[in-house]
Amino acid sequence: MKDQRIFLEEMPYEELNDYLMEKTGQRYRIQQLSRYLIQGIPTIDDMSSLSIALREQLKNDFNYGSVTVENEYKSSMDDTVKFLFRLHDGYCVEGVLMKYNYGTSVCISSQAGCKMGCKFCASSDIQFSRNLTAHEMLRQVYLMQKRAGERIGNVVIMGIGEPFDNYENTMGFLKLVHEPDGFNIGYRKITVSTCGIVPKIIDFAKEEMPVNLSISLHAPNDEIRKTIMPVANRWSVDEIIKACRFYVNKTGRRITFEYALMGHVNADKKQAYELVKLIKGLLCHVNLIPVNSTGSNGFAKPDQETIKTFQSILESAGIPVSLRRELGSDIQAACGQLRKTEMKGL
Ligand code: SAH
Repeated sequence: MKDQRIFLEEMPYEELNDYLMEKTGQRYRIQQLSRYLIQGIPTIDDMSSLSIALREQLKNDFNYGSVTVENEYKSSMDDTVKFLFRLHDGYCVEGVLMKYNYGTSVCISSQAGCKMGCKFCASSDIQFSRNLTAHEMLRQVYLMQKRAGERIGNVVIMGIGEPFDNYENTMGFLKLVHEPDGFNIGYRKITVSTCGIVPKIIDFAKEEMPVNLSISLHAPNDEIRKTIMPVANRWSVDEIIKACRFYVNKTGRRITFEYALMGHVNADKKQAYELVKLIKGLLCHVNLIPVNSTGSNGFAKPDQETIKTFQSILESAGIPVSLRRELGSDIQAACGQLRKTEMKGL
């Protein structure tokens, strides 16, 4: 039978206060509990300043979108740690903790599975299960911060899932993680990445939240894009660029284009020139990523020279470009690879 209990994190403040007063008679409990929720405490058992009896009572009376570490994998090449998280209903998602010289970053998932079906991405091989709630996203940050032993400086929503296909919860998460009593992470330290859900790019531009926006473009035209990203059948490259212009005009913020370089697909000079033509004049930055081969996907990184040539064509045209450092490649830190291995049975 389906669990009918309400999730603790969805209880309105007043009702939760009434409940706690009835059970404990202690006025301060609501503050304690609200603080735990906003801090992303991953399970009720972790609420250690509540009495054991109260924790048991809460577990009895409420559901809780708990998140636990099922496994973690530390890279032997750098400080990257990849996490496999287990959700309360058994599904798994991934997160990555990365140390850069400018601080500690976490990458979190927004959905269990993904509907987008990008051909080069391991997440798309696994069926979409469900959206994550804002609190489930927050709890991933908590667990990785705990592991890091230091304050998280940056958050990227680039794990499993398409955040703009789970728009409301993603916006909820952004507000929670920004809360002064919670992680207190500045909006400018957060990045949301989308494969290009055009109406949501427009909505996002209107949110007045100075969060960084990253677009997974990966191709300079519809013809190539359609062969690697099914979402390209729904929205054209031109529509995406138009939405990006709207975003830049509305927010004054620079947009990032992710471009995974795939040999013999999108990495030749011709595509570099086409990309220049497409985005020239737009306040943007291009992040080149040599594609991660996920084994079955059949895509391969281009050779060094091809990568360099692509990069220098953009640079010569005055487009800011960076080549993404590949952290944690020995632990399959990229995009759904781990979950794929672990979730075969689910
Ligand atoms: N759905 C969102 C966020 C998740 S993917 C999006 O599409 O942006 C995070 C980033 O990793 C995206 O830019 C995605 O295109 C890229 N990516 C996925 N698989 C990859 C691979 N095998 N190699 C390189 N980048 C990959």
